[in-house]
Amino acid sequence: MSDRVCLVHYHEIGLKGKNRSTFENQLVSNLNRALRGYPVERISRISGHILVEVEGGEANDELAHAISRVPGVARVSVAYRCGLDEAEYSQAAVRALAEAGDFATFKVHARRSSTAYEKHTLEMNHIVGEVLCAAFPDKKVEMHHPDVTVIVHAVQGNAFVYTDTGPGVGGLPVGTAGKVVSLFSSGFDSPVATWMVGRRGAITVPVHFSGRPMTSDTSEWLAQDLVGALAPSGVVGRLYVVPFGERQREISLAVPQSLRVIMYRRVMFAVSQEIARAEGALALVTGESLGQVASQTLENIAAVDEIATMPVLRPLIGSDKQEIMRRAQEIGTYDISCQDAPDCCTLFMPRKPETHARIREVHEAWESFDHEAMIADLVENVEYLDFDQCPSYKPPRRLRARHRELAPAIEDNDRWRAFVRRTGEQDQD
Ligand code: ATP
Ligand code: MG
Repeated sequence: MSDRVCLVHYHEIGLKGKNRSTFENQLVSNLNRALRGYPVERISRISGHILVEVEGGEANDELAHAISRVPGVARVSVAYRCGLDEAEYSQAAVRALAEAGDFATFKVHARRSSTAYEKHTLEMNHIVGEVLCAAFPDKKVEMHHPDVTVIVHAVQGNAFVYTDTGPGVGGLPVGTAGKVVSLFSSGFDSPVATWMVGRRGAITVPVHFSGRPMTSDTSEWLAQDLVGALAPSGVVGRLYVVPFGERQREISLAVPQSLRVIMYRRVMFAVSQEIARAEGALALVTGESLGQVASQTLENIAAVDEIATMPVLRPLIGSDKQEIMRRAQEIGTYDISCQDAPDCCTLFMPRKPETHARIREVHEAWESFDHEAMIADLVENVEYLDFDQCPSYKPPRRLRARHRELAPAIEDNDRWRAFVRRTGEQDQD
């Protein structure tokens, strides 16, 4: 008798010595959350792997695909599970090979994580190999470059038999590398940057600055859809939205036209940093890539970075647009980012933005408006939306209280209600 299960392989977390079980438990908990929509019966750790069992014992490729998106998963196999009995696992090998598609050559690769099983792997290879040769007389055994490898893995009283193993996204389980706040536009770059840091185990908290009320709220919907696309991988805890239009107008009236963008960005950094403090996040993340646009020269990056008192991670700094677009396609954000929406970046844009900002002029401009009051006011009025696919995310008490206390108007805000309603509908899909 055999049933079908998913066998999850990881490698990096196996390297983490004493932290290993923390990492494994986190991955189990993240998988539990990510697979809520599937009839999963149990997710457990077995000797260097994680086992996903489903009701009816029929794990399939769709489940394996959902598993493969979770950070920390290096590979996933849909395997037959049977007893440690040579007739049973040989029969499972025949079934697995029969389902392997077109092939001319094969080999058997037996492994043993359980020393309690007395048969040596060479002996297992031999036993299974003989049965397969009899079952597939027109196929050849090829030891070096076979078309298909049949893996028979003895683990804790069971044999797991499979031929195919699909790649996972790799990285580390979310929740093992702290928390970051990510400056999240509706463009291509920042969702990719957010995902990359999330894949390295960080809980990410995106902050989106919209041009509301000076522009429509379309960019907020796009940001929300983008987070919706990233959320199943468990990397996002909460999305913050900062309506920035009014304040941008004030800045644009107060500072030289060419320095507007740098001022907007300094305010965005300062507000994001306040949110990061309240969240207990230790770094900011942006989607900048060196020289990609006018604001991303080294001078301008330095002029904005000055505001930061925490590390600013720029995972895409050395990436080309083509690479970023390819990644966006892989993680499912490309089509959403293709939609154009005015956000705070398109609002009050200067005709000729400064590309090599001089720091003295930047300081003068910065002092020409009450940036402290503006930053405090923007922080008081942040709006947020929770995504519950990240099991390690804990909302900050401070902002929760502040939100209820100081922004009661949000309850009456039609746009906000629509924002929440739409996500509610999406969650049920
Ligand atoms: P992206 O594709 O992420 O929009 P971009 O190529 O358009 O980036 P910029 O407009 O210079 O480049 O933005 C650089 C970074 O600043 C973005 O990657 C993002 O981290 C942050 N950023 C830009 N606009 C916003 C916004 N509206 N809200 C939050 N962060 C933003
Ligand atoms: Mg952009």
